[in-house]
Amino acid sequence: MRSMPFETGPIRPVDEADSLLIRTTRGCPWTACTFCTLYKGMKFSIRSPKDIKKDIRAAREYFKGHPFETCFLQDGDSFVMDTGDLIQILTELKTAFPSLKQISSYGRARTMAEKSALEMKEIAGAGLNKLYCGMESGSGRVLKRVQKGITPEMIIQTAQMAREAGMHTTQFIILGLGGKELSRDHAQETARVLNRVNPDHIRVLTIGIKPGSGLEQEMNEGKFSLLSEAEIIAEQRTILENLETINSHYANHHAVDLLLEIRGQLPQDKERLLAVLDHFLGLPPDRQTNFILGRRLGYYHRLADMENELQYRFVEKQAQKIRDSNGSFEEIFHDLRRQVV
Ligand code: SF4
Repeated sequence: MRSMPFETGPIRPVDEADSLLIRTTRGCPWTACTFCTLYKGMKFSIRSPKDIKKDIRAAREYFKGHPFETCFLQDGDSFVMDTGDLIQILTELKTAFPSLKQISSYGRARTMAEKSALEMKEIAGAGLNKLYCGMESGSGRVLKRVQKGITPEMIIQTAQMAREAGMHTTQFIILGLGGKELSRDHAQETARVLNRVNPDHIRVLTIGIKPGSGLEQEMNEGKFSLLSEAEIIAEQRTILENLETINSHYANHHAVDLLLEIRGQLPQDKERLLAVLDHFLGLPPDRQTNFILGRRLGYYHRLADMENELQYRFVEKQAQKIRDSNGSFEEIFHDLRRQVV
């Protein structure tokens, strides 16, 4: 395969698999979140508009008229760029790729809070019409504890500003981020903030504590207690149950999520999604364990896959081996989760 004659970064959202990738920044301007190792060791920098424009022209040559409809600006936060520079880049992109209908970027609430409503409108008007925000939690206590550097008020204010500017918004939340200690607060406050923000999309991730992260250290020191898989699903139930009066598309969409069938449009699909969560939570403990193990090992994709008797018995044999060796299912599940990228 030919190597790209332009720079690309390591990360993009799952939903941007088919997008043109243009790198505006390297790394993350914050890097203090205790659960995150995404850009660990990478020095943050804002690329010069001259270099980015050169990359856009190189991408145009490389893809030779490919009709991209979507483009994602890497890496961690394009809003740290000077507004005028960002607008220049967006204009160059739309000229080089006239088929583009959507340009998206990650945006940190803290950075966007430094832009005025007018600047946000100008950025949206120049083409950046989709925003990915990692709010992670709506709980001020959780956000503080994981050193996210943002507050619930900042999330609400900047998301509303983005929507008023005409951007589509996606908010990411992380199940289990408050640990056992703050699970209830995490669930209730996340629902409260999402109700205020009413994002177009809510994307759910499940905690898997990365080796070398600050959160791993806290866990090792006994300051953070990981929820079990079933407790994580119960936490999700509280979040979903408390989402009211919003019209967001809600999805567990990442390989690290246990129940990929939790995906639907709110409010009309809410009862159906709650019923799936209740079905899982109502399973006898040995069937719950069988499903989690089968799902984490890649034998099951959905709860219904467990109905295949042959498959079920095969997973049960693996479960029995763990029981015979006195292994901890929850430790194994977490280990499998943390390996998912
Ligand atoms: S979670 Fe986002 S803001 Fe926090 S360190 Fe990771 S990339 Fe940066």
